[in-house]
Amino acid sequence: MASGKPEMTPTALSGFAGEIVRWQMAHGRNSLPWQNTRDPYRVWLSEIMLQQTQVATVLDYYARFLQRFPTVSELAAAEQDGVLALWSGLGYYSRARNLHRCAQEVMALHAGQFPRTAEQLQTLPGIGRSTAAAIASFCFGERVAILDGNVKRVLTRVLAFSADLAQSANERELWSRATDLLPEQNLPETMPRYTQGLMDLGATICTGRQPQCLLCPVQALCRGLATGEPGKYPVKTRKLKRSAQALSLLWAQRPDGSVWLEKRSSPGIWGASIACPSLKVTMN
Ligand code: SF4
Repeated sequence: MASGKPEMTPTALSGFAGEIVRWQMAHGRNSLPWQNTRDPYRVWLSEIMLQQTQVATVLDYYARFLQRFPTVSELAAAEQDGVLALWSGLGYYSRARNLHRCAQEVMALHAGQFPRTAEQLQTLPGIGRSTAAAIASFCFGERVAILDGNVKRVLTRVLAFSADLAQSANERELWSRATDLLPEQNLPETMPRYTQGLMDLGATICTGRQPQCLLCPVQALCRGLATGEPGKYPVKTRKLKRSAQALSLLWAQRPDGSVWLEKRSSPGIWGASIACPSLKVTMN
């Protein structure tokens, strides 16, 4: 079934969470700079940077950001231009603007402390449901499901969840299935390991085109693999609408080497960032 109501196969997969936790300890990523900490400021910063951006790219930015803004109060007190300058090159600049606003709200509304539950974290700028759950799970051990792009891929395959995720009812159903799969026992290390394990599995084994099922810790449980076509999950019929744009950039340089830059209007894809003046032509 490619659309409509999801198939109502039972969610229970005995032993699934335990396998993910054990695999993460032995084979997952355990030495990234934002791991081995429960500091919500550091975890939040890494989660925002990792949205739509590869780990290898984030590493340098993360280190520079923390060096310049070691605490949420220092980030909140910064000028927006300084934050955007440090973000420059990482893309999706609305993330940087929200990051700054979020830091200011943490200071103004939460006395400088990040809220401790996913529900409260979601009230802050730029923190969606999955990011909130990741922070709450990593930092406070909350038993709550994440569902970022990698994890959606893993879970739809494991569950052979063939309903169309373009429909919000089906997406809600997948959230509910993800919650059903959470570890039952919540020891202090369990949720951070489980959450990280799902992320790691999606990033390294259960990848988009060619999942390496022979290496997968949950291959015996995976209903998608049992169908013979795990790669057909997740199903999402609504494709991103793409358009093409041609940009002409003006490079105006003085003999002393200084270049004419201007602040872009906000919002917009590069809103409030500093760049060469440009002229945009949209081509559909
Ligand atoms: S068995 Fe294959 S499809 Fe299933 S979760 Fe593992 S890697 Fe993904």
